[in-house]
Amino acid sequence: MSSASVIVIGAGISGVSAAKVLAENGVEDILILEATDRIGGRIHKQEFGDVSVELGAGWIAGVGGKESNPVWELASRLNLRTCFSDYTNARYNIYDRSGEIFPTRFAADSYKKAVDSAILKLKSLEAQCAGQVADEAPSSPKTPIELAIDFILHDFEMAEVEPISTYVDFGEREFLVADERGYECLLYKMAEEFLFTSHGNILDNRLKLNKVVREIQQSKNGVLVKTEDGSEYEANYVIVSASIGVLQSDLLSFQPPLPRWKTEAIQKCDVMVYTKIFLKFPHCFWPCGPGQEFFIYAHEQRGYFTFWQHMENAYPGSNILVVTLTNEQSKRVEAQSEEETLKEAMSVLRDMFGPTVPYATDILVPRWWNNRFQRGCYSNYPMISDNQLLHNIKAPVGRIFFTGEHTSEKFSGYVHGGYLAGMDTSKSLLEEIKQSLLLQPLLAFTESLTLKHNNPDSQIHSTNVSFISGTS
Ligand SMILES: Cc1cc2nc3c(=O)[nH]c(=O)nc-3n(C[C@H](O)[C@H](O)[C@H](O)COP(=O)(O)OP(=O)(O)OC[C@H]3O[C@@H](n4cnc5c(N)ncnc54)[C@H](O)[C@@H]3O)c2cc1C
Repeated sequence: MSSASVIVIGAGISGVSAAKVLAENGVEDILILEATDRIGGRIHKQEFGDVSVELGAGWIAGVGGKESNPVWELASRLNLRTCFSDYTNARYNIYDRSGEIFPTRFAADSYKKAVDSAILKLKSLEAQCAGQVADEAPSSPKTPIELAIDFILHDFEMAEVEPISTYVDFGEREFLVADERGYECLLYKMAEEFLFTSHGNILDNRLKLNKVVREIQQSKNGVLVKTEDGSEYEANYVIVSASIGVLQSDLLSFQPPLPRWKTEAIQKCDVMVYTKIFLKFPHCFWPCGPGQEFFIYAHEQRGYFTFWQHMENAYPGSNILVVTLTNEQSKRVEAQSEEETLKEAMSVLRDMFGPTVPYATDILVPRWWNNRFQRGCYSNYPMISDNQLLHNIKAPVGRIFFTGEHTSEKFSGYVHGGYLAGMDTSKSLLEEIKQSLLLQPLLAFTESLTLKHNNPDSQIHSTNVSFISGTS
């Protein structure tokens, strides 16, 4: 059995940034246990059709504002190749099932109606929470264009509680990562700064890949972590960076079990599923002019192959289209074969661009929902929720600390949320370690008093000083 001061579970951006802060602050006997054979977690590039595509996070969101997004800074230092994404025209590129584009005026009016309805919905929800009845009931989307816009608004643009800190603090611009090294090179760069690496490979034995943690046992004196392959590791503290979806599943068990306030909070947080399906074609048959990068398909089924993007801006000549599905549609597609999904996508494309559209030569369907080390894509806090929920999800339980995008107060769901959360958690843990070190002489003193107390000749009473702290 090997031991460390701190074990970090998971090597996504939050786990790596947490470990880096510990190492930089003198806690060097750390151990990072990662379930898969790579670092990066939900930042994951894959070769597809001669280019590198991002299966997970693709954009650096929140750029150009008064404060600098730390992930944008990291990307700039690495000269990461990115492309500005201009979504403003997407709402005017809405196709019906016969391949006609809805007239601009009609699309703009439908969009405005949907925004008004979304605002009414929010007000009605607020009124409901306050035990009141809203003045006006929101209308539900019915026609294909209304359903398509509702999908774009609720599953993309307005999926978060306003105001959205990412855009307020860091700016409203979004940049798509289009770099052969992948978004994940940011993590390798961070790892290089505190782990031993050679030619881009991490050779440090403080990072252990293919270690699936199944059990975390904590006692007064420390923590014991057990992995699926039968290994056991001891530490003074543990930082768990697994996703909220994993915490909701039964992959990890805690001894003693986590308290109810913790498990209830974990179960209350929604998990979004977001699937980017990549399709490679022999040639490009879609419009590629300015303002045409994003386009929308209006169907009577909400979210059915609705949101499309071509990759000609990111990788000219790649002949790749991406269609994004969410939640129920994502789960449905994950459960079927690539051939079935391709057939559906082709029928949608032929609706939009005609029967001569060539069949795709390749398809890539990421499966984030069925991945037992993810169980979804990112946390989505209920529209109306108090800070207590996030506080409870984030709060440590004894020697077990929690991090990850879902613990970020302002930026949950984003890469920069994970990055900053990792730093925050480690700072709290360092504070805890400092406090316990300050307490050590006191503990030694009380222990000596206890010894004297146990001695029948002694008249002094004992005091219990526990090292376990945090919310329990
Ligand atoms: C499809 C998709 C699109 C996205 N798009 C964007 C975007 O455009 N912009 C943006 O900013 N964000 C985006 N995100 C969100 C972003 O990727 C995440 O917020 C961020 O990467 C989360 O980092 P993390 O460290 O919190 O978690 P993770 O990256 O999930 O890291 C957790 C790690 O823990 C490991 N693990 C889990 N269980 C165990 C276990 N039992 N034992 C050991 N290890 C374990 C996992 O393998 C993983 O490596 C997207 C996510 C997805 C999936």
